[in-house]
Amino acid sequence: MAEWPLTLDVDGLRAAGWRPTPFRQFILKIHSRCDLACTYCYVYKMADSGWQGRPKTMSPQIADATVNRIAEHVDAHRLPEIEVILHGGEPLLAGPGVIRRIVTGVRSAVGDRTRVAATLQTNGVLLDSRYLELFGELEVRVGVSLDGDEEAHDRNRRRADGRGSHRHVVEALRLLTKPEFRRVFGGLLCTIDLGNDPIRVYEALLEFDPPAIDFLLPHGNWTTPPPGRDPDGDATPYADWLITIFDRWYHADHDVPRVRLFEEILHLLLGGASATELVGLSPAAMIVVETDGAIEQSDLLKSVYDGAAATGLHVLRDSFDDALRLPAIAARQLGRAALAGRCRACPISAVCGGGLYVHRYRAGSGFANPSVYCPDLFRLITHIRSRVAADLAAAARDRSPRSADEPA
Ligand code: SF4
Repeated sequence: MAEWPLTLDVDGLRAAGWRPTPFRQFILKIHSRCDLACTYCYVYKMADSGWQGRPKTMSPQIADATVNRIAEHVDAHRLPEIEVILHGGEPLLAGPGVIRRIVTGVRSAVGDRTRVAATLQTNGVLLDSRYLELFGELEVRVGVSLDGDEEAHDRNRRRADGRGSHRHVVEALRLLTKPEFRRVFGGLLCTIDLGNDPIRVYEALLEFDPPAIDFLLPHGNWTTPPPGRDPDGDATPYADWLITIFDRWYHADHDVPRVRLFEEILHLLLGGASATELVGLSPAAMIVVETDGAIEQSDLLKSVYDGAAATGLHVLRDSFDDALRLPAIAARQLGRAALAGRCRACPISAVCGGGLYVHRYRAGSGFANPSVYCPDLFRLITHIRSRVAADLAAAARDRSPRSADEPA
């Protein structure tokens, strides 16, 4: 029997009035290989093997076809703003020519009425002044992966021969944070390893005064659980790790970087909508193009099973609107209607949103499950909620007039 959401009736949903959300985030895999062999990598070390059959670099023909498909989608939906994310593998292995071609191509194809935010996510090893000058010229913001100090980072982020990459990443970050390049610094991406001390990790990231930090949970699901997460247990090791940092971040008496996960949860708790797929119920509006032109769903699905991200669509044949008709894409745009029964009954479902879609998978039932991180998410969100509630109560007390018999 087909797993959910393959059984989803998109035509029926449309007939009932539901409308898909156009894509606003285009993740372009401009190089399919990497110069590191990180232990937790979902592209090369988990279920999917699709990278082996793809060209290493996106060709000019596929780059131009992708640019045209983006412009077609922007035009069809009159999008005022989109984000183009250059990704890999390691995108810097593609060389400056592809990067320039795509960024200038998209901006010119969509015209002045659409703002194009261009970003690139790199492991930092090849990041040099030549690239940074290019990014300054093209207004591309750069995110760098850093998992903490040398011991923390090199625990996982190593080359194929076992050598760590921390030294090279730190050199790149020193260059990136020089005054002439700092404006292209987008932030740091840190994957959590429970073996690393959270405060040491946080302080190692703060050394570079990043504008933003993304903490990522290692990918896994009910069938292939993440490290240290007993899917049947109530322990909350990832929440405990993150709460240690949250408490330091939240109570800081000086400027601190944005921590997107914490800000998203705070925003949702105060009644806002989520801007990322980490938490919340906002429709996912991102689509991936691989180096060979294949249109794919979130590449995080590569952690689930071989071919899980595939759509069968290709930029030379198909439009991004064709992708919006697929059950697997629609499932990520349905909000509460896509949640498992336990999530719908959960008191924090509007904030948690069932967690990241890929973490809900269980062989047999597909994605109709709570997150494998459910106890961690519940603990983290309720902890943050209690801090906010305490602050709001204190603020209300401060504003209320003192009673006559209350001491001054
Ligand atoms: S905390 Fe658990 S039950 Fe509640 S919405 Fe999140 S994943 Fe679902």
